[in-house]
Amino acid sequence: MNFEIARKRMVDSQLVARGVKDKRVIEAMLKVPRHLFVEEAMAAQAYSDSPLPIGDKQTISQPYMVALMTELMELTGSERVLEIGTGSGYQAAILATLASRVYTVERFRSLAMRARKVLDSLGLLNISLKIGDGSEGWEEEAPFDAIMVTAGAPEIPQSLLKQLAIGGRLVIPVGNQYEQVLLRVTRTVDSFITEQSVGCRFVKLVGKSGWSIDD
Ligand code: SAH
Repeated sequence: MNFEIARKRMVDSQLVARGVKDKRVIEAMLKVPRHLFVEEAMAAQAYSDSPLPIGDKQTISQPYMVALMTELMELTGSERVLEIGTGSGYQAAILATLASRVYTVERFRSLAMRARKVLDSLGLLNISLKIGDGSEGWEEEAPFDAIMVTAGAPEIPQSLLKQLAIGGRLVIPVGNQYEQVLLRVTRTVDSFITEQSVGCRFVKLVGKSGWSIDD
């Protein structure tokens, strides 16, 4: 299988055809080898139009969802970005290609270790990875120009809003455990502006400002 061709097809048929326009996002999706972020046995499916299992009952998001969420962050290259839910590390790799530095948090050690390995092997050195509950953000490194939560939250964690720089954007799926709406919250000098994007379905954000494990 020629992964470069598969990637180009994915970008044309799943992203551009559905309205993804940001040239930098398209370039990043053409460049980052998504098949390295799934188990070898699943590499051939890596460019299909769906999420895939990555272990610990978690998933790597559908390519379109990765592109859409990234586009909503409007990155120009200079940003410090926080991602909650490292998972496979794929979204972190896309963000690291488009921003200055990425801080990413994952609650499962096994996933974090595997992600670290792949990210290192790709020479992506502008990523700081932490194991723990990211539902309250990463206070020591705040403020962030953009924050992305890649797990479904019951509501917008206040701590994440506090860690947003003025002009910063938070992209987060909010809803119940079965369906959520993708929200973008922009911090202005004196308020927060919330916009709704598409309906979506993510695994749950588990933590202090998320769901409890037994929910
Ligand atoms: N962005 C990932 C996909 C994430 S799936 C990728 O590109 O592959 C959601 C991830 O969020 C899972 O790995 C899950 O373990 C993690 N997660 C859930 N709640 C979390 C929390 N409170 N802090 C950190 N990670 C969390």
